[in-house]
Amino acid sequence: MTRSTWLAAILAFFGASLVLPAAALAIGSPRIAAVQVALRAKHLYDGTVDGHAGPATTAALVTLQRQAGLPPDGVAGPQTLAALGPLAGPALGTRALGPGDVGGDVVELQFLLAWHGFPSGTIDGTFGSHTETALVRFQQWAGLSTTGTVGPDTLTALHAPIPSCPVRLAWPIRVPVGDGFGPRGAGFHPGLDLPAPFGTPVHAAAIGSVTFAGPTTGGYGNLVVVKGADGVATLYAHLSRILVARGQAVTVGTLVGLVGATGETTGPHLHFEVRVRGAAVDPFPALG
Ligand SMILES: [Zn+2]
Repeated sequence: MTRSTWLAAILAFFGASLVLPAAALAIGSPRIAAVQVALRAKHLYDGTVDGHAGPATTAALVTLQRQAGLPPDGVAGPQTLAALGPLAGPALGTRALGPGDVGGDVVELQFLLAWHGFPSGTIDGTFGSHTETALVRFQQWAGLSTTGTVGPDTLTALHAPIPSCPVRLAWPIRVPVGDGFGPRGAGFHPGLDLPAPFGTPVHAAAIGSVTFAGPTTGGYGNLVVVKGADGVATLYAHLSRILVARGQAVTVGTLVGLVGATGETTGPHLHFEVRVRGAAVDPFPALG
């Protein structure tokens, strides 16, 4: 092999390993997420609020800079941030934060809460009731006093590493992943989507007992929840049929239901979610 074919082989290897669902991507910058939300509010950006300054974010910044008469370098410097308005600033931790507040720090809070397993709906920089609920649940999870406001303890907990699944999981359906765990549009997808035809059998990914089996009024549709003694809960959503009952013990591979499209979905798929003591975690790294 020549040096250039070696290089091509190495690039092909790493190129292949980069074909991973969004779930495997590193958490983006909360600050850049705030810039993206501010650009969205000005209808200059309709990409994902993922905290990664990719080409679409840079192009939107250049458009804004041209409109504001600033040098079009695509970088969010102080003048550009000022032109973006309150949704791009202040930075998280520079003021006390609570219900009713609007700003880039609220975006950062919403972004970090979502990655820690407590998404609050649309990441929009407005501290409303959904954000407050998510914050209180996070504070409870982190063993902090449930103030519903952001103080130093909460800031420290928000900057701690995000939780991961502590046990190995089995695939509920053996199919390629659709949407992964992570930012999706202006929101956050707290699980894996496994697209499969109606009626495809869904198997339990972990041992435990069924704590919920039935229809939900939220987006999950027909839902089965299996909770293990280790605090790990696995959720199977949008089912067309449920084949277990509440209180039933299940083991890895137990048939829990059939794929459907109940709840908020555009087509048949399994929404598979994993929660550790209530925090949604990325199931992908734990799947064997
Ligand atoms: Zn989903």
